[in-house]
Amino acid sequence: MTTSIASQLELLQQEIAKSREKRANFEDNVRLIAVSKRQPIDKVEEAYQNGHREFGENFVQEGVEKIQKLGKSDIEWHMLGAIQSRKCKDIAAHFDWVQSVDRIKIINKLNQAREGMAPLNVCIQVNLFGEAQKAGVNEQVCFELAEAIQNSPNLTLRGIMALPPKQTEYPKQLQQFEKVTELYQQLAEQYPDIDTLSMGMSGDFEAAIAAGSTMIRIGTAIFGQRDA
Ligand SMILES: *Cc1c(COP(=O)(O)O)cnc(C)c1O
Repeated sequence: MTTSIASQLELLQQEIAKSREKRANFEDNVRLIAVSKRQPIDKVEEAYQNGHREFGENFVQEGVEKIQKLGKSDIEWHMLGAIQSRKCKDIAAHFDWVQSVDRIKIINKLNQAREGMAPLNVCIQVNLFGEAQKAGVNEQVCFELAEAIQNSPNLTLRGIMALPPKQTEYPKQLQQFEKVTELYQQLAEQYPDIDTLSMGMSGDFEAAIAAGSTMIRIGTAIFGQRDA
């Protein structure tokens, strides 16, 4: 069975609304980032034609190619994947957001490369569950990086991004996301201008929203399975 991207987007918006009602301050908006990594460009075009304007990519070269081919100045592009320092120039030149920042060297390179442009929106990728195979930093390093971003004139600290361990049961998902929310709230005490708690993917966004997510990143539930 094939389902159109338009109907998937609509369905997701309904599910987002339902999940938002499960939290105390449910007026808060939840932004939906369509993760188009390893998806053909015509699917991105289709989502765009249906009014979607926020997309995420994991690989710099693939992302830049799509950004240039589509040539839409009203799309916000989010870089979500591992960052190599030699790619910082391309990221700063083409993306609007970087959500996967996890070391000082990258902060400095992005700041340098962004000179003369509108500040780049930055989230710190956190890893609070000790998964060595994944990127991201612990609570303490998160605060150190936040200060470095705050001191970088060409970067704007927006918040944190998390990819907790995969769980199939809702209560376990919720428990993990609540731990990330706790860190976000601590960070917000020190940096009251932050507004982005990016967590939740196709398999767990309902729990993420209930726990306070302000931005979910959805790939397969919009576009279907990715190319191998
Ligand atoms: C691939 C990816 C997503 C989307 O995952 P789905 O399970 O397809 O929704 C979200 N965030 C990051 C960082 C990713 O790498």
